[in-house]
Amino acid sequence: MTVTLRAQLQAEWFRRLESLGRALTGEAMLDCASLCTGRCCPHAAMATREPAYTVSPVAIMLPFEMEYIIAQTGVAPGHFRRTPAEIAPGVMVEIGSFDIEKPCPFLTDDFRCRGYDFRPLDCRSFPLTPVFGANGELTFRLGAGCPSLGTFLPAYQARLKTVWRELLPHLSADYRALYNRL
Ligand code: SF4
Ligand code: SF4
Repeated sequence: MTVTLRAQLQAEWFRRLESLGRALTGEAMLDCASLCTGRCCPHAAMATREPAYTVSPVAIMLPFEMEYIIAQTGVAPGHFRRTPAEIAPGVMVEIGSFDIEKPCPFLTDDFRCRGYDFRPLDCRSFPLTPVFGANGELTFRLGAGCPSLGTFLPAYQARLKTVWRELLPHLSADYRALYNRL
């Protein structure tokens, strides 16, 4: 892989990440503040000692989303778990994630997100999560255990699905397999 190709792909992903942030402004109508203790944010269940309420033990980033979040927020690179994936033929990158072994650096003591404007798409989507099929199909599921499922705005869910469908052609088979595995 040449440095130029990697830099080109990173620039493309940074543009995509900026535009999906613009596409997903507005209210999802989740009632996180009154109904929940951040149980979809890695480490929250450990902090509350209520593992039964963990509904999402990992937040997985898109290609170059870790680098984008670091650039936008200045968060220390050491907070991310990294897993290699081939995102284009011959192009290996590290995919970032937050999981229960590495607490999310943005989670506050009162279960708020101090990196809200730049949180990963995975966090923006929850309780909706994509499921990548072996033949390139994309389906979705809703996270059981989220107490806000009843108010989760259908129009917002539709926007999320559109965002994921538009990203699908840019997500390699290796990335999709990694996402499903984590
Ligand atoms: S999305 Fe659901 S599980 Fe996550 S903090 Fe909000 S109410 Fe809780
Ligand atoms: S980035 Fe924010 S929403 Fe995502 S896991 Fe961390 S605290 Fe939760």
